[in-house]
Amino acid sequence: MAKRKTQKIEIGQGGEFTICPECGYADGFHSVFEGLNASKPAKWLLICPRCSSKYDIGLKYDTHK
Ligand SMILES: [Zn+2]
Repeated sequence: MAKRKTQKIEIGQGGEFTICPECGYADGFHSVFEGLNASKPAKWLLICPRCSSKYDIGLKYDTHK
């Protein structure tokens, strides 16, 4: 499978991100973490279980707390 570019998503007023904009899958996302060993907070990305599109909605996971 080709590596897909992570898409940045701006969460709208509804405060929800449950439907994949690429394929319409509506049952939520898997989580992917990148950079867990780095000195800055890790990126917490969402990946669609159906089409594998990756999304960055601005979540971060700080391993140094
Ligand atoms: Zn999808």
